[in-house]
Amino acid sequence: MNLLEINHMKKGFDGTGVLEDISLSVKEGEVVSIIGPSGSGKSTLLRCATMLEKMDGGELKYMGEAAAWEESGKCVYAGKQKLKEIHKHFGLVFQSFNLFPHYSVMKNITDAPISVDKVSKKEAEERALKLLKQLGLEEKKDAYPYQLSGGQQQRVSIARALALQPKILFFDEPTSALDPELTGEVLRVIKELAKEHMTMIIVTHEMQFAKELSDRIVFMEQGLIQQEGTPEEIFTAPNERVREFIGKFT
Ligand code: ADP
Ligand code: MG
Repeated sequence: MNLLEINHMKKGFDGTGVLEDISLSVKEGEVVSIIGPSGSGKSTLLRCATMLEKMDGGELKYMGEAAAWEESGKCVYAGKQKLKEIHKHFGLVFQSFNLFPHYSVMKNITDAPISVDKVSKKEAEERALKLLKQLGLEEKKDAYPYQLSGGQQQRVSIARALALQPKILFFDEPTSALDPELTGEVLRVIKELAKEHMTMIIVTHEMQFAKELSDRIVFMEQGLIQQEGTPEEIFTAPNERVREFIGKFT
């Protein structure tokens, strides 16, 4: 089943097209990496797919249910209740961690499950501890974000997203804000999740990582998917633009 389905998504800002016509489907358990030059619309795509930003046209579906669709040339969103349900299906991890600075690690992770999901405090904390253990951060549960390295903060934000038990996880350049020596620990965590068949869509400039981990790689440029395929297809038979782009990283 397609967990996510995007059909002919369009988005512009002030009359300038950013997403021209994007169609992308993601199946349960799939890992899809999105690569492409800066400004090509990768973040806009993730923001529209997670409804942080409204799209101008096209269709967005989670588990076969329409979140947004086009009606007489305009984009219409589902009702509040439906959107609330749909929101539970996905989590998002940003480049810049976005942890609450005045909350402990534990509270950062349990806040949404308790307030949004109505999970009991006890259960939320048990869940959080399990995640922290899994991500190698158990001893940091009472620390505050400023006491953590960037890599640890990013792992906490991954734990926070996982605490809501999403079916699909989006990452927008999860290691771009990190010093090179800290990217490894975050990439390792994402690799572990892939092994556990977590469905993920990852915008990244880490080519080797994308190659190893992805079921599919999508190359975006100028608001369009210019090439899409397995890592093997993308790296052994890239089209001219992809070859040029990948070449910059090797
Ligand atoms: P990428 O993530 O691939 O680097 P973005 O999606 O961030 O690209 O940006 C694509 C284009 O959209 C850029 O030209 C950017 O300036 C523009 N853009 C993104 N967000 C906004 C916004 N909120 N308002 C105006 N322009 C935006
Ligand atoms: Mg971006």
